[in-house]
Amino acid sequence: MITPLEEQAILVTGATGGIGAAIVERLAAEGARPIIHYGRDRRGAEDLLSRIGGHGWLIEADLSVPEGAVDLWRKAIEAAGRVHGLVNNAGIRTEILIDAPAQEWRSAWQSEFQVNFFAAADLCKDAIGHFRTNGGGRIINIASRAGQRGYAADAMPYGAAKAALLNLTKSIARSFGADGVVAVAIAPGWVRTKMAEDFIATHGEAAAVADIPIGKMASPFEIAELVAFVLRPSQASLNGATLDVNGGSYIR
Ligand code: NAD
Repeated sequence: MITPLEEQAILVTGATGGIGAAIVERLAAEGARPIIHYGRDRRGAEDLLSRIGGHGWLIEADLSVPEGAVDLWRKAIEAAGRVHGLVNNAGIRTEILIDAPAQEWRSAWQSEFQVNFFAAADLCKDAIGHFRTNGGGRIINIASRAGQRGYAADAMPYGAAKAALLNLTKSIARSFGADGVVAVAIAPGWVRTKMAEDFIATHGEAAAVADIPIGKMASPFEIAELVAFVLRPSQASLNGATLDVNGGSYIR
């Protein structure tokens, strides 16, 4: 295994989830020292850290509260000193019907945007500040096909928050390249994780794969491999792109 990410400290949010854990393992395999963020799953985070031989850090933070992301970044800097990359991967997918009571509707939109967008935007802000004064850095935002093509009637906040994340990624890419800061978004279609299993439990597998030309979901490893590739120092010009990983289900 080649290790192009040697000694890079990379903060991965939502690292105990399906995609997050795969990212951490891949980054570690390529020589990085992951900063493993988790919300509640301390046990899962500890297991993950031991699977990568203890070469990383564990940080707890609740991204559903406004101060969660700032708190997370501060702890990441305290732990690692210099951070080279940020992977905004934590996310939720809330279902809310159009005829839900107003209070429930508003609450679903607020919580979805808090975790999937505001926390990521706050982390981008602090990361850009750190990268600008420390020789640069890379941001990878895990968005979604849902943010590109519009989304299902019962989960509109998810698509809207991911669309905002895609736009933020492009703004960062256009604005801070001269400071050594680059940003890339990854937009998966369905990936086989707990989030996908929850969807399948309600709607069935056929509903998930019906419009995917290759007829199957991606594996978390595919996303992880791509994240590691984007972080390679040799990829100097990869900036502002949205990388689609959707089996051909949305082609631009
Ligand atoms: P997952 O449910 O397995 O993991 C989500 C992670 O986010 C978990 O570690 C969870 O603890 C963390 N998280 C959620 N709310 C949090 C909070 N308030 N505070 C701290 N952490 C919190 O889901 P996944 O499939 O691995 O999703 C990872 C990312 O990929 C998400 O941003 C998701 O939107 C995106 N994505 C997933 C799919 C898919 O099909 N699975 C498709 C496209 C995009």
